[in-house]
Amino acid sequence: MLIHGFVSGNRVNGPGLRAVVFFQGCTLHCRFCWNPKSHAFIGDERSVAEVARWVLCAHEESPLDGVTFSGGEPMQQADALLELIESFRDLLPSLSFGMYSGYSEQELADGRYWCRSELTRRAKQEIWRLIRRRLDFGVLGRYVASRPTSLPLRTSANQKLVLFSERYREQDFEPQEAEVHIAAHGLVQVTGFPMAGLPV
Ligand code: SF4
Repeated sequence: MLIHGFVSGNRVNGPGLRAVVFFQGCTLHCRFCWNPKSHAFIGDERSVAEVARWVLCAHEESPLDGVTFSGGEPMQQADALLELIESFRDLLPSLSFGMYSGYSEQELADGRYWCRSELTRRAKQEIWRLIRRRLDFGVLGRYVASRPTSLPLRTSANQKLVLFSERYREQDFEPQEAEVHIAAHGLVQVTGFPMAGLPV
Protein backbone atom coordinates (compact mmCIF):
# COMPACT_ATOMS: atom_id res chain seq x y z
CA MET A 1 0.00 0.00 0.00
CA LEU A 2 1.09 3.59 -0.61
CA ILE A 3 1.26 5.70 2.52
CA HIS A 4 1.64 9.47 2.67
CA GLY A 5 2.24 9.76 6.40
CA PHE A 6 1.59 8.40 9.86
CA VAL A 7 0.86 10.18 13.14
CA SER A 8 1.21 7.89 16.13
CA GLY A 9 -1.13 9.80 18.44
CA ASN A 10 -3.29 12.90 18.23
CA ARG A 11 -6.63 14.18 19.54
CA VAL A 12 -7.92 16.19 16.58
CA ASN A 13 -9.07 13.48 14.16
CA GLY A 14 -11.89 11.89 16.12
CA PRO A 15 -12.68 10.95 19.73
CA GLY A 16 -9.84 10.13 22.11
CA LEU A 17 -6.21 9.40 21.34
CA ARG A 18 -5.91 8.18 17.76
CA ALA A 19 -3.23 7.16 15.31
CA VAL A 20 -3.76 8.55 11.82
CA VAL A 21 -2.78 6.65 8.67
CA PHE A 22 -2.61 8.99 5.67
CA PHE A 23 -2.98 7.12 2.38
CA GLN A 24 -1.01 8.34 -0.63
CA GLY A 25 -2.97 8.94 -3.82
CA CYS A 26 -6.22 10.67 -4.71
CA THR A 27 -7.74 11.26 -8.14
CA LEU A 28 -10.63 13.44 -6.95
CA HIS A 29 -8.76 16.77 -7.23
CA CYS A 30 -11.07 18.90 -5.13
CA ARG A 31 -10.28 22.54 -5.88
CA PHE A 32 -7.99 24.07 -3.22
CA CYS A 33 -7.34 20.72 -1.54
CA TRP A 34 -4.88 21.63 1.16
CA ASN A 35 -2.75 18.51 0.67
CA PRO A 36 -1.98 18.24 -3.09
CA LYS A 37 1.23 16.36 -2.32
CA SER A 38 -0.94 13.40 -1.35
CA HIS A 39 -2.53 13.11 -4.84
CA ALA A 40 0.03 11.20 -6.94
CA PHE A 41 0.14 7.42 -6.68
CA ILE A 42 3.87 7.37 -6.12
CA GLY A 43 6.07 6.47 -3.17
CA ASP A 44 7.35 3.47 -1.29
CA GLU A 45 5.13 0.42 -1.15
CA ARG A 46 4.45 -0.62 2.45
CA SER A 47 3.03 -3.96 3.42
CA VAL A 48 -0.18 -4.10 5.41
CA ALA A 49 1.78 -5.88 8.17
CA GLU A 50 4.28 -3.01 8.36
CA VAL A 51 1.57 -0.37 8.72
CA ALA A 52 -0.19 -2.53 11.32
CA ARG A 53 3.11 -2.68 13.24
CA TRP A 54 3.33 1.14 13.31
CA VAL A 55 -0.10 1.20 14.96
CA LEU A 56 0.87 -1.56 17.41
CA CYS A 57 4.04 0.30 18.42
CA ALA A 58 2.07 3.52 18.87
CA HIS A 59 -0.43 1.64 21.04
CA GLU A 60 2.34 0.19 23.19
CA GLU A 61 3.76 3.68 23.74
CA SER A 62 0.40 5.27 24.64
CA PRO A 63 -2.80 3.18 24.53
CA LEU A 64 -4.91 4.30 21.59
CA ASP A 65 -8.67 4.67 21.41
CA GLY A 66 -8.62 4.19 17.69
CA VAL A 67 -7.22 4.79 14.24
CA THR A 68 -8.39 7.33 11.69
CA PHE A 69 -7.74 6.76 7.99
CA SER A 70 -7.12 9.86 5.95
CA GLY A 71 -5.40 10.84 2.75
CA GLY A 72 -5.10 11.12 -0.06
CA GLU A 73 -8.13 8.91 -0.55
CA PRO A 74 -8.25 5.73 1.59
CA MET A 75 -11.01 4.15 -0.53
CA GLN A 76 -8.81 4.24 -3.62
CA GLN A 77 -6.78 1.51 -1.88
CA ALA A 78 -9.88 -0.11 -0.43
CA ASP A 79 -8.68 -3.72 -0.59
CA ALA A 80 -5.52 -2.87 1.38
CA LEU A 81 -7.55 -0.75 3.81
CA LEU A 82 -9.88 -3.68 4.49
CA GLU A 83 -6.94 -6.01 5.06
CA LEU A 84 -5.40 -3.50 7.48
CA ILE A 85 -8.62 -3.11 9.47
CA GLU A 86 -9.12 -6.87 9.58
CA SER A 87 -5.56 -7.39 10.84
CA PHE A 88 -6.53 -5.57 14.05
CA ARG A 89 -9.45 -7.86 14.75
CA ASP A 90 -7.32 -10.17 16.92
CA LEU A 91 -4.38 -7.86 17.64
CA LEU A 92 -6.25 -4.86 19.06
CA PRO A 93 -9.96 -5.66 19.12
CA SER A 94 -10.86 -2.60 21.22
CA LEU A 95 -9.71 -0.06 18.59
CA SER A 96 -12.28 2.16 16.98
CA PHE A 97 -11.99 3.15 13.33
CA GLY A 98 -12.82 6.35 11.51
CA MET A 99 -12.24 7.43 7.93
CA TYR A 100 -12.20 10.59 5.84
CA SER A 101 -13.25 9.96 2.26
CA GLY A 102 -14.03 12.31 -0.61
CA TYR A 103 -16.75 9.89 -1.75
CA SER A 104 -20.34 10.09 -0.58
CA GLU A 105 -21.94 7.15 1.20
CA GLN A 106 -24.09 6.50 -1.89
CA GLU A 107 -21.09 6.42 -4.24
CA LEU A 108 -19.36 3.95 -1.93
CA ALA A 109 -22.44 1.77 -1.57
CA ASP A 110 -22.86 1.71 -5.36
CA GLY A 111 -19.21 0.80 -5.91
CA ARG A 112 -18.79 4.06 -7.84
CA TYR A 113 -15.28 4.76 -6.62
CA TRP A 114 -11.98 4.42 -8.41
CA CYS A 115 -9.60 1.87 -6.93
CA ARG A 116 -5.88 1.40 -7.57
CA SER A 117 -6.40 -2.36 -7.84
CA GLU A 118 -8.53 -3.49 -10.73
CA LEU A 119 -11.78 -4.53 -9.10
CA THR A 120 -15.22 -5.10 -10.50
CA ARG A 121 -18.00 -2.84 -9.35
CA ARG A 122 -19.53 -5.76 -7.46
CA ALA A 123 -16.20 -6.39 -5.65
CA LYS A 124 -16.00 -2.70 -4.72
CA GLN A 125 -19.53 -2.82 -3.33
CA GLU A 126 -18.65 -5.87 -1.25
CA ILE A 127 -15.38 -4.34 0.03
CA TRP A 128 -17.20 -1.19 1.09
CA ARG A 129 -19.87 -3.30 2.84
CA LEU A 130 -17.13 -5.03 4.87
CA ILE A 131 -15.24 -1.81 5.64
CA ARG A 132 -18.45 -0.06 6.65
CA ARG A 133 -19.23 -2.87 9.09
CA ARG A 134 -15.95 -2.20 10.92
CA LEU A 135 -16.01 1.61 10.85
CA ASP A 136 -17.37 3.61 13.76
CA PHE A 137 -17.54 6.90 11.91
CA GLY A 138 -16.81 8.42 8.53
CA VAL A 139 -16.52 11.97 7.21
CA LEU A 140 -17.77 11.65 3.66
CA GLY A 141 -17.96 13.89 0.59
CA ARG A 142 -15.75 16.11 -1.58
CA TYR A 143 -14.11 19.19 -0.17
CA VAL A 144 -15.93 22.23 -1.54
CA ALA A 145 -13.85 25.31 -0.75
CA SER A 146 -16.75 27.73 -1.25
CA ARG A 147 -18.67 26.09 1.62
CA PRO A 148 -16.36 26.42 4.66
CA THR A 149 -17.62 25.15 8.00
CA SER A 150 -16.54 24.92 11.60
CA LEU A 151 -18.47 21.68 12.23
CA PRO A 152 -16.34 18.99 13.94
CA LEU A 153 -14.09 17.03 11.53
CA ARG A 154 -15.59 18.59 8.40
CA THR A 155 -13.81 20.99 6.07
CA SER A 156 -16.86 21.92 4.02
CA ALA A 157 -20.53 22.09 4.93
CA ASN A 158 -21.62 19.50 2.33
CA GLN A 159 -19.59 16.76 4.02
CA LYS A 160 -21.42 14.33 6.28
CA LEU A 161 -20.27 12.92 9.59
CA VAL A 162 -21.78 9.44 9.53
CA LEU A 163 -21.92 7.28 12.66
CA PHE A 164 -21.73 3.64 11.58
CA SER A 165 -21.83 2.10 15.06
CA GLU A 166 -23.28 2.99 18.42
CA ARG A 167 -19.86 3.66 19.92
CA TYR A 168 -19.98 7.44 19.53
CA ARG A 169 -22.55 10.21 19.52
CA GLU A 170 -22.27 13.59 17.74
CA GLN A 171 -21.33 15.22 21.05
CA ASP A 172 -18.19 13.08 21.27
CA PHE A 173 -16.64 14.96 18.34
CA GLU A 174 -14.68 17.97 19.57
CA PRO A 175 -14.60 21.39 17.87
CA GLN A 176 -11.97 21.76 15.14
CA GLU A 177 -8.40 22.08 16.33
CA ALA A 178 -4.95 21.53 14.87
CA GLU A 179 -1.91 19.73 16.27
CA VAL A 180 1.69 20.26 15.20
CA HIS A 181 4.05 17.31 15.73
CA ILE A 182 7.80 17.92 15.62
CA ALA A 183 9.87 14.71 15.59
CA ALA A 184 13.36 14.49 17.13
CA HIS A 185 14.85 14.24 13.61
CA GLY A 186 13.10 17.48 12.58
CA LEU A 187 10.04 16.21 10.64
CA VAL A 188 7.12 18.60 11.20
CA GLN A 189 3.57 17.30 10.69
CA VAL A 190 0.44 19.43 10.96
CA THR A 191 -2.80 17.52 11.45
CA GLY A 192 -6.36 18.52 12.18
CA PHE A 193 -7.98 21.78 11.15
CA PRO A 194 -5.67 24.79 11.04
CA MET A 195 -8.53 27.09 10.01
CA ALA A 196 -12.27 27.00 9.42
CA GLY A 197 -12.26 26.59 5.65
CA LEU A 198 -9.62 27.74 3.19
CA PRO A 199 -9.55 30.88 1.04
CA VAL A 200 -11.44 30.55 -2.24
S1 SF4 B 1 -10.71 13.93 -1.59
FE1 SF4 B 1 -9.40 14.86 -0.02
S2 SF4 B 1 -7.28 14.50 -0.69
FE2 SF4 B 1 -8.62 14.14 -2.45
S3 SF4 B 1 -8.62 16.10 -3.53
FE3 SF4 B 1 -10.44 16.07 -2.19
S4 SF4 B 1 -9.74 17.06 -0.30
FE4 SF4 B 1 -7.90 16.51 -1.46
